[in-house]
Amino acid sequence: MNLIRRKSEKYLFYEALERRLVNTSTIKNTLQEALRKEGGGYAGELRVDREIEESDFFTSYILMKGLIVGNSTSYAQIDTFIIHEKFLLIIEVKNLPGIIKMDNQLHQITRQRDNGPVEGMRNPEDQLLRSERFVRKFLSFHNIPMPVHGLIVFSNPSSVLEKPFSKKSAIHVSGLHQTLESLHLMYADHLYPKFEPRKIQLLFTQHEFELNPYKPSHILSKVNTEILQGVLCPQCINKLLIYRNKFWRCSQCNYKNAEEHRQALKEYRSLLSHKVSTKEWMKFSGIRSVSTASRMLQKSNLFIDGTFKNRTYVIPRDL
Ligand SMILES: [Zn+2]
Repeated sequence: MNLIRRKSEKYLFYEALERRLVNTSTIKNTLQEALRKEGGGYAGELRVDREIEESDFFTSYILMKGLIVGNSTSYAQIDTFIIHEKFLLIIEVKNLPGIIKMDNQLHQITRQRDNGPVEGMRNPEDQLLRSERFVRKFLSFHNIPMPVHGLIVFSNPSSVLEKPFSKKSAIHVSGLHQTLESLHLMYADHLYPKFEPRKIQLLFTQHEFELNPYKPSHILSKVNTEILQGVLCPQCINKLLIYRNKFWRCSQCNYKNAEEHRQALKEYRSLLSHKVSTKEWMKFSGIRSVSTASRMLQKSNLFIDGTFKNRTYVIPRDL
């Protein structure tokens, strides 16, 4: 269940890359910029979560975060999905500092920061309408005549929305409570049919699937020789740990932990592959004993793939 706000695959990728890229890499600056952007987006989503969770209506909601609707070839990922007994609300969160203008006729959105140049951006409305289409299709397939609403929330406290804004509901995060209030007023009439939020949630959850890790080949091909292998010390920079007597140990700061390979496996998933064999793990981690490496993988809550002879392990997202 996605009740916890998880980081996007993209964010996980950049975080893993930052941790493992050698300091001399030429893409350090690009990487910092990407991390700032992804980090900002994530912080914005958390801000919207907080706003909803602190509202009076929260107890009547089931909140799904990062819900995936559709199939593996065509899907929409919804930042925040509110299930109420009378309606569904799709929230698309945008973290854009600066002055934002939405032009309906030209169907575009522009943003200007600190008197800098005016930048054109992808209209978040397209994404929202796409999500709405996926949800409506899903509901009609399952014969659930529930009303669906959509909302774009600009989550950055310093973003300024310039009037006139879109026809479609697009608001600043500070107005979220009020928007929810008017939605509830609209459904106050007892004539609206009621559904069971738990059942609706279960149905969406049952049809979700796991996305593959984000693997941008234009970046990976550039940096594949600059990625550090091994299990890294969380306290020292670029320092490899050595596995001895059931513990990962740092010779520099004396850090010691039996489970540090889990973090390395997560990063392996983000940067190299979501599948790993014992042989590949030995090469990556520096462990020389087949039985030690194999036992470690077996005990790490991975999914087994393939037969005994060419067995690989699938590293899940939430390791
Ligand atoms: Zn250390």
